[in-house]
Amino acid sequence: MNATDDTESFSGGCLCGAVRYQLKPPLRPVIACHCRQCRRTSGNYVSATAVPRQSFALTSSDGLKWYRSSERARRGFCSECGSSLFWSADALDTISIMTGTIDGKTGLHTVAHICVADKGDYYELDPSQPQYADHHYPSPWSSRPNDE
Ligand SMILES: [Zn+2]
Ligand SMILES: [Zn+2]
Repeated sequence: MNATDDTESFSGGCLCGAVRYQLKPPLRPVIACHCRQCRRTSGNYVSATAVPRQSFALTSSDGLKWYRSSERARRGFCSECGSSLFWSADALDTISIMTGTIDGKTGLHTVAHICVADKGDYYELDPSQPQYADHHYPSPWSSRPNDE
């Protein structure tokens, strides 16, 4: 299956299948966030796309729980298998989706690494991809995908 040819929607979900979702394209280019919260919740760093909330639909939410990770954002995860799935800021009209949970090919590209001041010391970044010390960066959309 080639998801880039799929103009209908993208699907995805957690490891066990208790959380499933659909996204209507277009999807925002991918931002990788290396902040402490993203590192802890993912075990490495977070790679996320985003869509307007009206382009996001849960098709199964049996295992979905939301953890309030800061005063202005929550993180969605599966309480059955522990998959980290979503990042949602109260004030934003978009929702971020962890790219690795999307089924099949996405056709997306990583356009920025943010919060690299907090990055781990055990991996290297592609120097051709722009890096920003904190969560201030020229967003491909008007909203930030991943600040705490
Ligand atoms: Zn699950
Ligand atoms: Zn982060």
